[in-house]
Amino acid sequence: MAKMKSLVCRECGKEYPTKAIHVCEMCFGPLEVKYNYEEIKANISRKKIEEGPRSMWRYADLLPVEGQATVGPHAGLTPMVRAKNLGAYLGLDELYIKNDTVNHPTLSFKDRVVAVALTRARELGYETVACASTGNLANSVAAHAAAAGMRSYVFIPADLEAAKVLGNLIYKPNVVEVEGNYDDVNRLCSEIAGEHQWAFVNINIRPYYAEGSKTLAFEMVEQLGWRAPDHVVAPMASGSLLTKIWKGLNEMKKLGLINAVPTKVNGAQAEGCSPIATAYKQGRDFFKPVKPKTIAKSLAIGNPADGYYALKATGESGGAMDAVSDDDVVEGIKLLAQTEGIFAETAGGVTIGVLQKLVKQGAIKRQDVTVAYITGHGLKTQEAVIDAVGRPTRIQPSLVSFQNTFKMGKNGGGDA
Ligand SMILES: *Cc1c(COP(=O)(O)O)cnc(C)c1O
Repeated sequence: MAKMKSLVCRECGKEYPTKAIHVCEMCFGPLEVKYNYEEIKANISRKKIEEGPRSMWRYADLLPVEGQATVGPHAGLTPMVRAKNLGAYLGLDELYIKNDTVNHPTLSFKDRVVAVALTRARELGYETVACASTGNLANSVAAHAAAAGMRSYVFIPADLEAAKVLGNLIYKPNVVEVEGNYDDVNRLCSEIAGEHQWAFVNINIRPYYAEGSKTLAFEMVEQLGWRAPDHVVAPMASGSLLTKIWKGLNEMKKLGLINAVPTKVNGAQAEGCSPIATAYKQGRDFFKPVKPKTIAKSLAIGNPADGYYALKATGESGGAMDAVSDDDVVEGIKLLAQTEGIFAETAGGVTIGVLQKLVKQGAIKRQDVTVAYITGHGLKTQEAVIDAVGRPTRIQPSLVSFQNTFKMGKNGGGDA
């Protein structure tokens, strides 16, 4: 028997073969991968995982591919940083940063999901891959497709950050800039997907793609010494990542890799696009779509495909959700950089801002083991902080100029 059993509708439970489909034809519910956990359990152990590849593929037993990782073999297994300085600042004894700013090859968590999606797309016989993206997904699809020798089309909104546009063009995919926001791009792509035999990673391949996010939970648990933390804080765009962290934690328990999941799963959004966090705060289990307006463009999805399931995951875990202003996003980026030396993109500022809020509210307590997911690199969103970091101190090329500027005597001492 294979480890993948079927695709199953998350609403009505109808099962389908593991092909490139994502919607139930009975009730239009989204499909997800169903595994043969009995078989996986007989095959998996902490030891086997620890001896596996130095990448997220050490968790291949729990990923929806049949063979080897043919695309993205180096993705994942990013550092788990014990954030002592930031923890002390916030009043947390045991805070960690899961640092996906250094993911391979495109410096965001999307390298995980794309490695899975493109490996599966190949298994299903596709030669052309495509995606609708808020930026990072396009970068990762373009890079992985280039390395895999696959044709690619990436669709992005026209107002994307310069580094994310360049971070597509350099790999020479077909970059399609759509005059509209992400939700417009995604709607268009759904139509295109109906007409062309392409693997759209976030449409017809979505059930496989989404599973890649589970590796953020798996690695975290292993890196904490095989224990699940008390809290995680994760940014939300479509809400998929948060949903899959919860699924991944519960799979580890089901397979006996950990005994308990005490983890509260907390969600973070920017106020300018917070349909999921707003629903949580108003006590609703459904969200109202919004028109995004925030500097956190990677999270700017006004009609989030997994919003409902993210609310469910946070609810089941006993976690919370919140949102922060764009000013707080910038402050969050600076705080993380200046305490831990990690330069995150705007999504990271959202996560740190909400983490800070949850600590202040008492939802996260001093002794709680807490992990913040930092999902993308700051050099990709320079526009967001360029006016908030000051300028270098300019001097003449002489010792006197340097010492006068920094008010030092001839024998050293003192900062400016
Ligand atoms: C895509 C993305 C997310 C969240 O994605 P989901 O759609 O919620 O799975 C978080 N951070 C960054 C940097 C991203 O690019």
